[in-house]
Amino acid sequence: MTTPQNNPEWIAYRHPQPKESPPELVIPDAIPQDERVWVPVGNRVWFRPLCLSASRGYWVNLLKVQSAGVLSRHRHPQPVHGYVLKGRWRYLEHDWVATEGGYVYEAPGETHTLVVDADVTEMITLFQVNGAMIYVDPDGNTTGYDDVFTRIDKCRRHYAANGLGEGYVDQFIR
Ligand code: FE
Repeated sequence: MTTPQNNPEWIAYRHPQPKESPPELVIPDAIPQDERVWVPVGNRVWFRPLCLSASRGYWVNLLKVQSAGVLSRHRHPQPVHGYVLKGRWRYLEHDWVATEGGYVYEAPGETHTLVVDADVTEMITLFQVNGAMIYVDPDGNTTGYDDVFTRIDKCRRHYAANGLGEGYVDQFIR
């Protein structure tokens, strides 16, 4: 580590990290150079794993959409944090629009329908999703779900098929 000479503040912590603390995760190209890292989950819809927390039951990913329409109607049992990197999207149930550079908090208990409007050529949003996304019909009846484990499984299958290898996903799991 580079340290300015004679500056007493530039002293690293002198002790080992706790042995139970897992290694940190540093991804220089969150928007990946290699297009194969994007895992397809629909018609011109992909996610890119960043942190898949199997031990805590949440995941952080980028969602990329290059088609207009309804992505999913879903319920959140736990909170979600989102940061829009590109484009915009909205929920049919709310008046607001999530726009480039914007942050969104989705509260536990929310059920909503994510749509991308026709004039948006590409949307990329970072989401931190806790617990699960429960997919529902307009009356709230469950039609499916995703959690960190279904996300890991989708990554494994995609990376096994496209040459990165199923073990490629392991680097994102904590
Ligand atoms: Fe949501």
